Amino acid sequence: MNLVMAVIEGNPTHIPDCEFRPKIQRCLDLLRDKAGQYSTWFNGYNLKLRAARASGANFADGAIDIARATFDASDTWVASVIIHECTHFWQYRSGKYQAGQAAESEANRYQLGVLQLVGAPPSEITYMQSQDGKHADLDGDGKYTRDDYNKRNY
Ligand SMILES: [Zn+2]
Repeated sequence: MNLVMAVIEGNPTHIPDCEFRPKIQRCLDLLRDKAGQYSTWFNGYNLKLRAARASGANFADGAIDIARATFDASDTWVASVIIHECTHFWQYRSGKYQAGQAAESEANRYQLGVLQLVGAPPSEITYMQSQDGKHADLDGDGKYTRDDYNKRNY
């Protein structure tokens, strides 16, 4: 049996370790048990999972940041978000990452695949199917900017 050995870091300001660690571990176990190929893919990137103010892929730190609003969603949703962000690391490390709709659509497709494999409720699958890749552009100006990042709380 594969052990999932990701570094998991809570944060006293955002989500304390005692709360963050067990749920994230549960989500990683869910990926391992139900979405093995995604789990292996994720493990290959050696990423840290970190409680933070906003969710996202932090390339500089090799970390997937998880904010409270994301964290409080279901295990299946959080597991799918981990793979969504992992997709951005794949895009980034293969030199093709450009923040914006194309990158988001691609990450959303992988996320949807995970939701289907881990047995997510139909509401989550329907929601994901309705996403057009513009979710990063919260202020609707057609550009994905630091402003959008700062407005995120998911
Ligand atoms: Zn994304």
